[in-house]
Amino acid sequence: MGEGRTLVTATPPTPNGALHLGHISGPYSGADMLVRAERLQGREARLIIGIDDHQSYVAVKALNEQRSSTAVAETYADEIERLFEQANIATGPNLRSHQSDLHQTVVHGFFAQLLEAGRIEPRTEPAPFCPNCERYLFEAYVAGDCQHCGEDSDGNQCEACARPNSCIDLGSPRCNLCGATPENHDVTRLILPLSQWSDRIGAHLAKAYLSPQLTSLAERMLGDGLPDIPVTHPTDWGLPAALPGVTDQRFYVWAEMAPGYIASTVALARAEGDPAWENAWLDPSVRIVQFFGFDNAYFHLFLHAGLMLAWNEAVNLPAAYVTNEFYELEGSKFSTSRRHAIWASELLDVVPTDVVRFVLAVDRPETARTNFDRERFEALADDELAGHWSPWLGDLLARLAVTGSPGAPPDAAQGDSRRYLDRLDELSELCLAAYTPSQFSPQLACRLMTAIEREGERLASSYARERSYGDEWVPSAREGLRLEFATAARLAQLAAPIMPDFAAVLWRALGMAGDVRWTGLGSLPVDRAAAPPAAPFFSSVAGQLESLMPQPQQTTPAVVT
Ligand SMILES: [Zn+2]
Ligand SMILES: [Zn+2]
Repeated sequence: MGEGRTLVTATPPTPNGALHLGHISGPYSGADMLVRAERLQGREARLIIGIDDHQSYVAVKALNEQRSSTAVAETYADEIERLFEQANIATGPNLRSHQSDLHQTVVHGFFAQLLEAGRIEPRTEPAPFCPNCERYLFEAYVAGDCQHCGEDSDGNQCEACARPNSCIDLGSPRCNLCGATPENHDVTRLILPLSQWSDRIGAHLAKAYLSPQLTSLAERMLGDGLPDIPVTHPTDWGLPAALPGVTDQRFYVWAEMAPGYIASTVALARAEGDPAWENAWLDPSVRIVQFFGFDNAYFHLFLHAGLMLAWNEAVNLPAAYVTNEFYELEGSKFSTSRRHAIWASELLDVVPTDVVRFVLAVDRPETARTNFDRERFEALADDELAGHWSPWLGDLLARLAVTGSPGAPPDAAQGDSRRYLDRLDELSELCLAAYTPSQFSPQLACRLMTAIEREGERLASSYARERSYGDEWVPSAREGLRLEFATAARLAQLAAPIMPDFAAVLWRALGMAGDVRWTGLGSLPVDRAAAPPAAPFFSSVAGQLESLMPQPQQTTPAVVT
């Protein structure tokens, strides 16, 4: 049994390009912060992500670059894994779906079982076909107007409103490879009759935590009736379906993802030698939390839930679904193809990881699109971290080196000290709550940490006159220092999910033993004298970002005659 455990999953990235800051700002950094917050409080938590090799966008990229899909997937999967490491995203084994035998065995077994049980079925329906390219069109290969919101949408799902389409219901459809208008040809695919599962899915979603925007999407989709979804497509890239009637087809990659999560969980259990993880998807004592961008909402809320219920009605579905909106760059969407992007690895090459994670947390597009702006990034890094946190903490540690560590405040503190500590506890509890799935808001956590840091600065300036007395401070000033020490300790604890390196350095500098962990202030594990770190906690990043900004498109200079 996995009592008290949390398994966090985030939509596996598509290896069709380097990850830009928009990718990192959403599910991946958020999921990592939740896992770290759980561990901070002594609870077991793991993150699984994986790599989504079989996306049609990989095949389209390969066609455009005249490379093999395998080569494209491998190149970018390597980059993505390096980036996760660079960004300090503590993910378990990232199964690459095109390479992993475990992934492929689990996925095949899953769909074979569904077919055997009659829960997916062959069905012949019209689908778009490009006469020029002689190709069945779906997903990345086709685009048109979304019937729900009217925005330009690719096949199968609309990025703007997050709702599925059948490809043949797109208005003014076009082949994304050649621009031709597709014909409709009959094709026999395996179909998941999702509509049959709508009551069960509705009952599950009513119990799970959903953000308000997910709740309204779910209400609307359930009200309109769920569409039946093909889980195989006649195409040349993807995991071969190898099931009766569709031997020449590939599994639909978004359907493959559901058993893919199960495979990743098995890989995690094996990598850790801890069988308690292995049955996470059937063990209700494991809490599963799913992170994804809102544009992928339908896959996780409906397609995956439907597939999992069809696989085993006793499945342990996610207890919480945490979403983000798009992170924009200078007012428009990050775009790999238009090179309108800040590449995450380039930014992490020049700016410390914790600083990037802090700015992404402050700017996290939690309920609305937010915007990356170089001046704002520099202001947050330089004015806040290098301008406030670093000088206060450096100064506090220098004073502690002279006066000796005051130790943790006693639980029985009285009067003004008690009132200060109560306020600190209140802010800290709110901050900790901002790391829970149902109130997840790194934005709020950063605002609260900033408020806590300012409390520390106020204490420091209140007793500034005492500094002229060397180490012979009066009792009230020593008490002030004790409260300041407690404030810094709280900051180390609360910053650990967002800025793990900074938190660990501060924890050690304050003289605390072991890894950063959540404790009552009366039981901080002080085991030695405080000592300032060798370098400042944060330095200015001014000027570091300029070379990373996208260059305006070159235009041909006018000829002067
Ligand atoms: Zn739409
Ligand atoms: Zn075409």
